[in-house]
Amino acid sequence: MARFLIVGNLKMNPLSREEVSQYLSVLQREMSGKKFEHAAGVLCPPALYLNEFSELPQGIAKGAQNVFWEKSGAYTGELSPVMLKNDGVEYVIVGHSERRQYGNEDDRIVREKAHAVLKALMVPIVCVGETGEERAQGETDRVLEHQVQAVFEGLSKLQAEKIILAYEPRWAIGTDTLPTTNEILQVKVLIRKLLAEMFDSQAAERVRVLYGGSVKSSFLGAVSWEAGMDGVLVGRESLFPYEIVKMLALFEEQALSLEA
Ligand code: PEP
Repeated sequence: MARFLIVGNLKMNPLSREEVSQYLSVLQREMSGKKFEHAAGVLCPPALYLNEFSELPQGIAKGAQNVFWEKSGAYTGELSPVMLKNDGVEYVIVGHSERRQYGNEDDRIVREKAHAVLKALMVPIVCVGETGEERAQGETDRVLEHQVQAVFEGLSKLQAEKIILAYEPRWAIGTDTLPTTNEILQVKVLIRKLLAEMFDSQAAERVRVLYGGSVKSSFLGAVSWEAGMDGVLVGRESLFPYEIVKMLALFEEQALSLEA
């Protein structure tokens, strides 16, 4: 498993298959001749284009942006975790703040989805994070505690270790406003503490934690490795394949310098 992970969430983009094909050919070109051992990518396109994302360059896996918790049945418009798995999806974003906001997903739904993803042998990337208002009221720790505990409740240690958490302060998404390195670090410490209490310190170490919210390659260090994070979840910048590849290269460089 690569040390660092970069997850690109393409959200509701691009708008046509023609643009998807342009995106993928630029990605292939940017990745050509490059091999990363310590940094890996995951690209999560809209479900409509998952098939086009089947032939990704080596080191970049296919992810989905959402899933339903039931395996099959009368659930109009939903996507089964088994369908995703059978289509080659390896990772699924669960509980993104936009789904919490526009799809009314609460912690119970997020838990159901994350557990269904694990059951289908894929990796859930579970987003947690406070709103601007909660932050202003000093509620960040309480909100995160609730969100993290809800997701991990009822899992074995082995299952728990497979989950990836993405700390995405909701006020930082799409805004170009960032928390400080120290604020992100404090969240990492809190998450470790919560997981050590629920499982043990080994599980707490093994659960990977990413940062997400207005990430750009120009300040990757400050929001990721300097803050003890295991990678990043990227929204807008993932629409530029060269940015994704640049981030992979920067993480690779960082991992090699840590080894030296
Ligand atoms: C996101 O939506 O998860 C995200 C991090 O978006 P952006 O990078 O655009 O802030």
